[in-house]
Amino acid sequence: MHFSVLVMTRQGLDGQIARQLDKFDENDPSCTNPKWDWWVIGGGFSGMLDGYDPRTNPKNYKPCAYCEATGITTEAVAEKHPAYKPHVGKTCIQCLGSGKRLVSPSELEPHEGDHRAAILVTRESLSYVPYAIIDLAGQWHEIESSEEVEEIIQNNLASVVSVVDCHD
Ligand SMILES: [Zn+2]
Repeated sequence: MHFSVLVMTRQGLDGQIARQLDKFDENDPSCTNPKWDWWVIGGGFSGMLDGYDPRTNPKNYKPCAYCEATGITTEAVAEKHPAYKPHVGKTCIQCLGSGKRLVSPSELEPHEGDHRAAILVTRESLSYVPYAIIDLAGQWHEIESSEEVEEIIQNNLASVVSVVDCHD
C-alpha cells in the first residue's frame, strides 16, 4: 500500500528527511516501529501541499512504447504483443492517441512545492489529509482529522514540511 506522510525537518534537506524516516524502516531487523519498506519524496502525492498537478508538467511524460509515440498501434507492437493485433492502425489504447505516457510516480520530476515552510501549510492549502506526519522530534502520528494536522503544524511552526510517498 502507498500512503502519504508529511515529514517535518529543519530545512527540508534530503538527508534530514531520510534521517527522520530511518527509524521506521521495515528492512531494518532492529526496527521497533516498522512503517515502510520503500519511500520517495513526492511520488504519487506530489503536489498535495500546493495543488500542483504533475500531469501538467511536460517533463513528466515519456514516449509511448505501445505505439512508438505515434498514437496509433503499429504492426511492430502487435508482433511483440499479440493482444494488440486487433488494434493495428487504430488509436493506441495505452496513450489514447497522445503518443506519450506519464512516467511512474517514482520517476516524476522533483517539485519544489513538495517542501513548504510549516507556517504556509494550512488545512485549506492541503489537497487532502495525509496518512501520517513525522514531527520535528521524530514522532510518528497517524492522522485522523484535519484538525489534528493543524495542531501538529502549530506545534512545529519552525519546520519545513515535505511530502513523502511511503510504501509498506
Ligand atoms: Zn501509445
